[in-house]
Amino acid sequence: MSKPVVAIVGRPNVGKSTLFNALAGEKISIVKDTPGVTRDRIYADVTWLDKEFTLIDTGGIEPDSKDVILSQMRDQAQIAIDTADVIIFITDVRQGLVDADSKVADMLRRSKKPVILTVNKVDSFEKFMPDVYEFYNLGIGDPHPVSASSRLGIGDLLDEVIAEFPEHTGEIEEDTRPRIAIVGKPNVGKSSIINRLLGENRVIVSDIAGTTRDAIDTEIVHNGQEYIFIDTAGLRRKSKIKEDLERYSIIRTVTAVERADVVLMVIDAVEGVTEQDAKIAGIAHDRGKGVIIVVNKWDAIEKNDKTMKEYEGKVRQILSYMPYAEIMYVSAVTGQRLPKLFDMIDMVIQNQTLRIGTGVLNEIMMEAVAMQQPPSDKGKRLKLYYITQVAVKPPTFVIFVNDKALMHFSYTRYLENKIREAFGFKGTSLKFIIRERK
Ligand code: GDP
Ligand code: GDP
Repeated sequence: MSKPVVAIVGRPNVGKSTLFNALAGEKISIVKDTPGVTRDRIYADVTWLDKEFTLIDTGGIEPDSKDVILSQMRDQAQIAIDTADVIIFITDVRQGLVDADSKVADMLRRSKKPVILTVNKVDSFEKFMPDVYEFYNLGIGDPHPVSASSRLGIGDLLDEVIAEFPEHTGEIEEDTRPRIAIVGKPNVGKSSIINRLLGENRVIVSDIAGTTRDAIDTEIVHNGQEYIFIDTAGLRRKSKIKEDLERYSIIRTVTAVERADVVLMVIDAVEGVTEQDAKIAGIAHDRGKGVIIVVNKWDAIEKNDKTMKEYEGKVRQILSYMPYAEIMYVSAVTGQRLPKLFDMIDMVIQNQTLRIGTGVLNEIMMEAVAMQQPPSDKGKRLKLYYITQVAVKPPTFVIFVNDKALMHFSYTRYLENKIREAFGFKGTSLKFIIRERK
């Protein structure tokens, strides 16, 4: 099941980033070498009680004049309405209620999305509570006082947020159709690929429950199997500010990727693979999704017998953190190799849901340990006791060891390579959780 998305909306300086950090906590990423992902505080994974969600901060750069503030806030609110399941609308008790707050509150109310009204900078309940009541005037429910900087009221706020999540108690049958997100920079050919796939396959324009998102879902039937394609290209936000556009496109990518099983990372063959591509692909990698690197416009470049190999070299170098991803060279214009995409998608999904028995996993780990001695530090050597697979999508393994600090990233990667040698797992990242057992 894809995780709910929670968006923070509010004027500049009310404390959006501070609240974001208070809610997200110190996010320690398991994958430290994904460029642009862990440093970026636009989104984060949050766990509260037994619930997980993706938190996004819609706030972009600071506008310099009053009228820009309002139009920018409207943009932010719209992004939140389009992409989020729950919206945290944050205001500032010190500044009090201002006109822009009321206008945004109207927009949010009309959207009918669950909104949690939050009043920040209530550093002392005694002193500021009387001023909090003023925010009832916004007409979007009870104001929740918090102090983001001193982490007051954060737990209560999180309780309110998760209470708004849709229930998945089993009465709704889960949609088992593969979901594929098409991501990539503008103009790489995302829409063209979708259109071409649509042209070659039977189309059902679908009305999928809960898709009020900023991505267009299209159902495509291929060889009797239904696939849902999530297209991030369709809707483009207008904004004059470059930083804002980038932020919106990251938010769109994150929320589309979040809902997908497999991500088609589209690259423009003519332009070549860039750092921006690496950033976008990093989102899919970081979320543990299946990834297929699709080099499009293959028709438009001059080729000889070395071109593909050279191309692969460049892609592998820039997207070095996802050696597991398959590369396909396609053309949306000529249709070259596009039908093969479906076989590749099927394979990736199969690998994402592959389960390996504990017995054979441990055999492989013991063999690997025998071949390459585990690291040691100050006379203490890492001991690996036991490995077991605990989840799929992505395949997730727990390794029990004597001392977590001794488990170097490079040794985990070594074990990962051994597991891949044995089982492939092509197209999907693998996740390793290291636990201590005394
Ligand atoms: P943003 O522009 O909405 O992201 O706001 P920031 O998170 O950057 O915060 C703006 C300013 O408000 C900073 O100087 C913060 O230190 C301050 N601030 C944030 N939260 C609180 C709070 O709970 N109490 C007080 N007194 N100041 C806060
Ligand atoms: P999007 O922004 O990623 O959705 O990109 P579009 O699908 O709108 O395509 C951007 C431009 O690239 C358009 O002018 C397309 O005609 C062109 N284009 C897309 N796919 C191909 C392709 O396979 N080969 C060539 N030569 N051009 C393509």
